[in-house]
Amino acid sequence: MSERVEILGVKVDAVTMAEAVDFAERLISARKPSTIATVNAEMLLRATYDAEFKSVLNAAELVVPDGAGTVWAARHLGYEMPERVAGYDLVQELLKIAPAKSQRIFMFGSAPGVADKAKAKAENLYRGINIVGTRNGYFQAEDEPEIIAQIKNSKPDILLAALGFPKQEKWLAAHKAELNVPVSIGVGGTFDVMAGVVRRAPRWMQRAKLEWLFRALLQPSRAGRLVALPKFVWEVHKSKK
Ligand code: UDP
Repeated sequence: MSERVEILGVKVDAVTMAEAVDFAERLISARKPSTIATVNAEMLLRATYDAEFKSVLNAAELVVPDGAGTVWAARHLGYEMPERVAGYDLVQELLKIAPAKSQRIFMFGSAPGVADKAKAKAENLYRGINIVGTRNGYFQAEDEPEIIAQIKNSKPDILLAALGFPKQEKWLAAHKAELNVPVSIGVGGTFDVMAGVVRRAPRWMQRAKLEWLFRALLQPSRAGRLVALPKFVWEVHKSKK
């Protein structure tokens, strides 16, 4: 398997998109409950003061470099990091393969109706795909047994959880054994983009490593999150030996 490089205490796999997809498929075949985390700069920064989040990330079977910040940090620390593996793109790659392998997908998270729209979009894009269930991501603690039962009963091979970080990663870790899903992935805003609720940055902006700026401009409520970026750069630089 790939090398794992440590960024602010989180071990990130130095994988290409193709290698990440390959590894995910192997996890699905192995049938053992496993998780994939997609980490960006904000998440790595959070892990510096949220010990539970850090250990949850480090316990994932695969941690991919989502975001230009993660790739930059790895390289700044002197490691090889082949490319960015965006969570959104990884999900699309897995959904593309799923019909041929008769894999079952569950979409959990986002506002009411959004996962259903994402499901319709997936059915449109990936002919023959089997989305076996959806559930919105707004719930109380007392609803959890019912949600867990719904997911378990639909027997997915892949569980996509869009509750935002760190909630989605912590939730998946807490219920990993009970859910017994071969691959669970925290996917943030993926359903919002698939449903057309939120737009993804144009390709040129992604290539210019400016997707974070696009998201902040499009959703001003997120602008506060921008302060994490210089802080992240500083923390990574400080950690360089
Ligand atoms: N969300 C949810 N339940 C919550 C909080 C958030 O389902 O309790 C959803 C929210 O509707 C959105 C996604 O989680 O679809 C978070 O998307 P975002 O792009 O903010 O991802 P992040 O960068 O926080 O992981």
